[in-house]
Amino acid sequence: MVAELTADGATTRELERMMAEFPDLPVEAVIKQDILRQGLAFSPDALRVASGYKPKDYFIFTFDLVPVAEMAEHAQFRAPEEIRMTGGPYDLRRTVVSTRVAPDSPYIVELRDGKLALNCEGVYLADLEFPPIPAYYEHTLSSGKKISQIAPAIEWGYLVYLTVYRLCQYWGRDEECRFCDLNENFRQQRAAGREYTAVKEIEDIVEAMTLINQYDTVTKAYTVTGGSITKKLDGMREGEFYARFAEAIESRFAGRWIPKAVVQALPVDEVQMLFDAGYRVYHPNYEVWDKDLFAWICPGKDRYVGRDEWMKRILDSAEIFGPTNVIPNFVGGVEMAEPHGFTDVDQAIASTTEGLDFFMSHGVMPRFTTWCPEPTSNLGRQKGPSLEYFVKLLRAWRDTFEKYSLPVPPGYGRPGAGNAEFSVSAFMDVIRTH
Ligand code: SF4
Repeated sequence: MVAELTADGATTRELERMMAEFPDLPVEAVIKQDILRQGLAFSPDALRVASGYKPKDYFIFTFDLVPVAEMAEHAQFRAPEEIRMTGGPYDLRRTVVSTRVAPDSPYIVELRDGKLALNCEGVYLADLEFPPIPAYYEHTLSSGKKISQIAPAIEWGYLVYLTVYRLCQYWGRDEECRFCDLNENFRQQRAAGREYTAVKEIEDIVEAMTLINQYDTVTKAYTVTGGSITKKLDGMREGEFYARFAEAIESRFAGRWIPKAVVQALPVDEVQMLFDAGYRVYHPNYEVWDKDLFAWICPGKDRYVGRDEWMKRILDSAEIFGPTNVIPNFVGGVEMAEPHGFTDVDQAIASTTEGLDFFMSHGVMPRFTTWCPEPTSNLGRQKGPSLEYFVKLLRAWRDTFEKYSLPVPPGYGRPGAGNAEFSVSAFMDVIRTH
């Protein structure tokens, strides 16, 4: 389908239709969402000539539109973690976009007069940069592990991403969230012979953060995350297990970074453990708002916790963290997944807006990532929603955000087009800064 679109200029026409229909949204945000939706292709020349950039670290999910084993063209030259676009015919302000490898995408990174450029359907769209390698990457842990495996940086170096448990105890098709390839990614990376361990040692994390503290000035926040713990892990409940990491970091480097936890919506006592350990931002992700779709898409969460309890726990956690610091994520677009999702864009947006309104009316700050139909997830390779869906979602998010006069979400870097570092959706790009 993507190849057909490429052939007749339909991607460019759709971009321009959306820009004309939604002139109050930054063009950067429109293009960014379309690149996240369709993925990026790379000419081997572009990857060969570019040097000294940070390659993709596969920090949690694959976020690719093809399986690792199929990336023939990309196997020897690794794709960058993100791209940053500027200039071009739309005179783009600096815009950071996460890389999702899709060899059939109409968006191709190529060389133009010897420099990196982004083309859309063969037409020049923007000048490009790849992210620099963080200064701390040259250091190795005393265990011999690469620091990029333990504490990779994303969002143009802003965020250290600590996936401390790379498996999920929701297991199999009746429990795993259907968009998620975490368990499958673990198997793929192992099969490709990469160094990839399930549980990271606290000592490794502390040593990595010590090096980062010493050699880096760019990182401003860290996220601790991993799969859900439905039973116990090393004898600990989920809250206890994840609390130890912030405790270990904050006892040494209090306040050096904004500490964030991406874990389940937990009972109040476990949320309190996270807060007491030092986390200041809590992400109890709710994934999808609609009740029936929640049961279908998140069968494990629905069965073990239940949707009503999940939403109640999110509101309860606002009492502990403060509502602005509770930032539950939803997977933008997954409510249109086949075969049971919405088929009508406006109905999908109406449902999701109801969720936005529910949380934001309580001062809680939902945000979204862009659904990437990863081929090895249960939902499998599918086309995903249209650009129109994502543009309407951006507008709905911003309108609701403004309706409740909420502050800029903490831990996401700078807001506004030309400033935003958050790379997997354009929600930070659409915040008006004046
Ligand atoms: S809770 Fe769902 S999204 Fe999170 S790791 Fe487990 S299966 Fe994946």
